[in-house]
Amino acid sequence: MNTYQSQVTEISSMNTLQPDERGLLVTCPNCGQRNRLRYDRLKQVFRCGKCQTELHPPPEPVDVKSDLVFDALTSHSELPVLVDFWAPWCGPCKMVAPEIRKVAAEGAGQFVVAKVNTEESPALARKFRINAIPTMALFKGGVEVARQAGAMPAPAIRKFLQPWLGDGKR
Ligand code: ZN
Repeated sequence: MNTYQSQVTEISSMNTLQPDERGLLVTCPNCGQRNRLRYDRLKQVFRCGKCQTELHPPPEPVDVKSDLVFDALTSHSELPVLVDFWAPWCGPCKMVAPEIRKVAAEGAGQFVVAKVNTEESPALARKFRINAIPTMALFKGGVEVARQAGAMPAPAIRKFLQPWLGDGKR
């Protein structure tokens, strides 16, 4: 009966970027080797294990699809993690998507942007008491330090993040 859903999910095999429980799996642009950028070393320079090309944290949002990966990313990441809780049926979320992509493109190396589809991960939405979407939450050292509900354009997202970037606690 429900063939529609199974067709929608397998677009991710085209992604060059995938998170697992230890790090971000990225494909080397030079040789195609898969490498893992470990969460706890995201501030360091990575080199491809095969050809030594320098690899950088991704300039795009990371789709987080499992609770374990979410916990690993938010608790071990050396960089702050901005999480966009969204749902496919939510109009304002669609407006936010390109805005958050812009912010992610500029923020590579300073913070990680993750997206959580609350339809696919209802347990995460419950755990963090997400009662409105879109909601953005910022995690630093495993702790949620800031949150804002509602659609924001890129400049507002940057303003939301700004106090939490860098090494200071605020
Ligand atoms: Zn390589």
